[in-house]
Amino acid sequence: YRASLVKLKGRAAISRDGVHLRLLANIELPEDAKVAEENGAEGVGLYRTEFLYMNRKDLPSEDEQYEAYSRIVSAVSGPITIRTLDLGADKQVDSGRTLGPTPNNPALGLRAIRLCLKEPELFRVQVRALLRASSLGRIQIMLPMISNLQEFRQACAAIDAVRHELIGEGHRLAAQVPVGAMIEVPAAALASPMLARHARFFSIGTNDLIQYTLAIDRVDDEVNYLYDPLHPAVLQLIGRTIDAGVDAGIPVAMCGEMAGDPRYTRLLLGLGLTEFSMHPASVLEVKRIIMDSDVGRLRRAVRELLGCTELQDMRDRISALDA
Ligand code: PEP
Ligand code: MG
Repeated sequence: YRASLVKLKGRAAISRDGVHLRLLANIELPEDAKVAEENGAEGVGLYRTEFLYMNRKDLPSEDEQYEAYSRIVSAVSGPITIRTLDLGADKQVDSGRTLGPTPNNPALGLRAIRLCLKEPELFRVQVRALLRASSLGRIQIMLPMISNLQEFRQACAAIDAVRHELIGEGHRLAAQVPVGAMIEVPAAALASPMLARHARFFSIGTNDLIQYTLAIDRVDDEVNYLYDPLHPAVLQLIGRTIDAGVDAGIPVAMCGEMAGDPRYTRLLLGLGLTEFSMHPASVLEVKRIIMDSDVGRLRRAVRELLGCTELQDMRDRISALDA
């Protein structure tokens, strides 16, 4: 079985009815970048930059970050989506230096983009490194934990200011560095038609979107039995986000674990998802399912099942997508 998958490495992920889907890799370390394309991914859909900040006493300098981004660009020929710092909650720096106060409820606290907007210097150093690396390849910037339009615009303004600063210093930058929003807070999914007018792309972070939608701590074993990607509320938020992106003409990816789980591939195709970003090890299996699927048929079937008012009926129809 593995041998038959390996044959798919160089093949494009095209469905039986001719729809081209994009399969990308999630990476956590610059070293992982090489593995992405070796595993049949077309690029990097999520680089979790916070790993540069974790397990150390100091903060990484601009040059160190620039080196890390440059290494990824030189290892990957396809597009690379770099997520700005997503620290807080389940991703802590263990340097003893707390970034911000110790919160009662970290998942709802000063994390990710909130922390970056609160600590502009932290953000500025990272964005300088990112924009400098943009001259070397196809980089786009992804902002985590966006919960309203205002914070998206504020972050874009900060990025723009850094761009001008660098140009003033004589740096060469890519003409276009698209900035997109992660959709991982229910409010952002609900407001996605509005955000889509400003963001250049969306990427749905189901790990957090499910946590916040269902009000279950993603790292609490006592409640993880409630963690359910197929909850009708979750599916509606995913569907709404994809539709908003399609209506606005911007690409919508998914980079949460759900995107790399072969049990959900057909459901996501049916919801209209066109970019899947996942652990490199999952790429070929998801590719095989896509190449064996009829996207037009799945879209019709999923549109119908979303209207189900009986949970079991809906689940049966989801299972039938794989039949
Ligand atoms: C997510 O929330 O789905 C996601 C991809 O980000 P992380 O798992 O790093 O929070
Ligand atoms: Mg997340």
